Parts: sequence; structure tokens; C-alpha cells
Amino acid sequence: SRPPAGGEASPEKLLVPVLSAFWDQPESWTLETYRRHEGYEGLRKALAMSPDDVIAYVKDSGLRGRGGAGFPTGMKWQFIPQGDGKPHYLVVNADESEPGTCKDIPLLFANPHALIEGIVIACHAIRAHHAFIYLRGEVVPVLRRLHEAVREAYAAGFLGKNILGSGLDLDVIVHAGAGAYICGEETALLDSLEGRRGQPRLRPPFPAVAGLYACPTVVNNVESIASVPAILTRGKDWFRSMGSEKSPGFTLYSLSGHVANPGQYEAPLGITLRQLLDMSGGMRRGHRLKFWTPGGSSTPMFTDEHLDVPLDYEGVGAAGSMLGTKALQCFDETTCVVRAVTRWTEFYAHESCGKCTPCREGTYWLVQLLRDIEAGRARIADLDKIADIADNINGKSFCALGDGAASPIFSSLQYFREEYEQHITGKGCPFDPAKSTLWA
Ligand code: NAD
Ligand code: SF4
Repeated sequence: SRPPAGGEASPEKLLVPVLSAFWDQPESWTLETYRRHEGYEGLRKALAMSPDDVIAYVKDSGLRGRGGAGFPTGMKWQFIPQGDGKPHYLVVNADESEPGTCKDIPLLFANPHALIEGIVIACHAIRAHHAFIYLRGEVVPVLRRLHEAVREAYAAGFLGKNILGSGLDLDVIVHAGAGAYICGEETALLDSLEGRRGQPRLRPPFPAVAGLYACPTVVNNVESIASVPAILTRGKDWFRSMGSEKSPGFTLYSLSGHVANPGQYEAPLGITLRQLLDMSGGMRRGHRLKFWTPGGSSTPMFTDEHLDVPLDYEGVGAAGSMLGTKALQCFDETTCVVRAVTRWTEFYAHESCGKCTPCREGTYWLVQLLRDIEAGRARIADLDKIADIADNINGKSFCALGDGAASPIFSSLQYFREEYEQHITGKGCPFDPAKSTLWA
């Protein structure tokens, strides 16, 4: 969906449309449209700088990874060893699959050249001659659009041999995955790209040391890379003028669920859900917020007590959650927490790759117990059991999927234990599914 134009829908002028600035224009995805909006100006600036200076510039901007973990982008680039004689690779993680997360796919659909320009800048910085875009396989229209944008970039001399006369040679390969959530985990993604079954690898070594084909590899999220051209064009001080000291800049927030106007809202890091709801029209008419996620279902859920928590890595972290993917899923009072958590847990059990026991067995077991609770077949002692199982998954699994599956169990028990108990003592779900627009 289209974001409101900057300032018009926002009395507080919170919106900063950069990546989304011209999504509503006809053929926003073409090279011609992109070039009318400062397109490939950042690349010209970057190619006039040394690779090390580009890394230092991005590092100084404070850009943090937008895939969920918030790792500093410039620092990740700096980890790539120089003079090692090995090929270096850039891999863009476009396998967006976290429940509620829907920012990279619209970005790629509406403005694919921002990613391609960012890729060329990043490859100049890390001295790479091959980049891969690993796209979630189900989004075929986006795949077609990416292929077309890459073709346009080659034809215009932004990809290929001797880019803009700089001596940089770069090829970009677009690869479609086969629809497994685990292939968004960076090392499983690399295995999948190499033609193997996608399962996480042991870290360390991190991809920066031994990544694709055991060579130094930067794996970055789509939004992280697409944000780089604007930083080069408008300057690191402009970028730092938004957000907070440790979480600077603008970002895409994906607002979904029982809200009046779901969609992508591009604004500085550090604003609050209250501000986002105020500017976007709030919850659906006649209803109030019950619980929400700051960054998809892998992040612990919040309640209406957390409306003023700053949405940055410090604010959300201090309140006991991770910012994650900035997928703000909002649920109103018609939603059954047990039902929501059961659906998420079914997702994690289905997507568990099966490599490690705590996640493979634990998520399966959680689903059985949650279904029993939802149907009123459980005992009160089962609440301690699901907490115990989640505890045995969290921090004891091989990759972050396990931790993600455990987090809604902990937070829902923390804030809504009574609602779980109601299901057990009342022998079933007290909510009327017909009244909720979700989970039908
Ligand atoms: P992480 O914190 O382990 O790593 C983040 C990045 O920093 C990785 O690229 C990693 O290689 C790098 N890194 C960390 N320490 C390093 C070191 N010492 N040396 C070199 N590089 C280092 O996080 P993660 O497990 O990669 O990802 C978890 C995040 O993924 C969660 O925050 C979650 O929100 C997010 N996630 C996103 C989606 C999505 O669809 N976008 C889906 C699932 C999960
Ligand atoms: Fe696979 Fe789950 Fe273990 Fe990750 S935590 S390696 S998804 S079984």
C-alpha cells in the first residue's frame, strides 16, 4: 500500500519518504523514474571515493542492519579481509518471511533500482565482483521486476564491465528461493544458494570470514543496502539528524492488523507506536489496542502499556524486546491471545528445519499443548509446561528460529496468563471468532 505523502497526513511531520518517496508515481520501478529522483547519484559519489573511505562513510552514518538484528552495516563491511586473494561476495537477503514483515517486498516491487544502486556501492566498498539477490520464491511478480531492473542497469552501464568508467566490474545474479522460512537465516541462505538443503551453519565463522563458497561474504538485508545511496547522496549528517545517537536514520515501519490504515510508513527510528497510530488513523473504529509486536512474531509482544516505547534498538531493548523487522502487528480486544500464539507456533513448528532437537521437538510439543489449551482440553499445570518447553528452546537451539518461537510464549504468559487460565477453567475459547477480522 502507498505511504501518505510526506507531511500531508502527519501533523507532526514525522514521515520521511526516501525509499518510498515516489512509489505512487506511474512506473515507479523503471530506471527513468529512478534517475528523475537522484537515482545513481550516490553511486557516482561512491566511485569517486576509495573503497575504504566508502566503508568509513557508511560506518560514520550509523546505519544499522534493517533485517532485524540491527548490526552496524559499515562494521560488517569492514570485517571483509583485504588482500586475502579470495573472491568476495555480497549476498542480499530478500527472503522476507517473518510473520507480519512486509517491507522489502513492496520496496523491491516499487523501487528496485535503490537496491541495485546500493549493491554497486557496497561491492565497490568490499571489493566484490559478484552479488546475489536471494529472493523469497513465492513473489514471482517481484522476481520479474528485479530481472527487468537488473537488465536495465546493465544496459545503462551501472552493472557489467568498467562501471561508469571506474574500472569496477560487477555481475548481479537474482536467485529465487523455494519458500522455506529458514532460508532467511543467513547461513541457511548461503547453503541454499550453493545448491544444498537450506539449514543453518555453525557460527563462527561468520559469513564475513567464510560465507558463500567459503569466501568472505557480506550478507545484508534489502532495506539496509537500499538505504545506502541516499546516505551517499544526501550525506551522513543528514542521516544522523534523524533517529537517536545509537539508532540513527529513517526506516520503513510496516503497520498491520486491526488498524484503520495498514501500510508502510517511512519515518525516523525512535518514534513510538502511539505516534504512528496517531498519524495513520489509529485502530479500527470502535476498538482499542490489546497487544502488538514491535518486529514480527519473533519479538516478544507488547501491550497498550508500551505505546510510548521508542522504536529503536535501545528503547525497545530496554523495554524487554527486540526491535526486529519493525513489523508492527496490532491486535484489538476481539483477538484471543492463545489463538494468536498458537497460530504463530504452528508456523514455527512447520518451518523448523529439524536440525536441532530443542526446536524440532519443542515447537511440535508446544503446538500440541497450545491446541489443547485453546480447545479447553488442558490442565493449569500445562501452563508451566509450555513455559518450561519454551525455556528449553530459548538459547539452546542452533539458530534464531528457536528463540523466535519461544518469545511469544514467554510474553503472552507474562501479560495474559489469566486469559490462558480462562480457556482451561472455562473449557474452551471465550472469544467469538466472528467478531475478529483475524484468525477466521
Ligand atoms: P545476529 O545478531 O546473530 O547477526 C546479525 C548479523 O551480524 C549477521 O549478519 C552476522 O553475520 C553479523 N555478525 C554478528 N556478530 C558478528 C561477528 N562477531 N563477526 C562478524 N559478523 C557478525 O542475528 P541473526 O541470527 O543473523 O538474525 C536474527 C534476526 O533476524 C532477528 O533480529 C530477527 O528479527 C530477524 N529475522 C528477520 C526475518 C525477516 O523476514 N526479515 C525473519 C526472521 C528473523
Ligand atoms: Fe533448524 Fe530450528 Fe534448530 Fe534453527 S533452531 S537449526 S530452524 S531446528
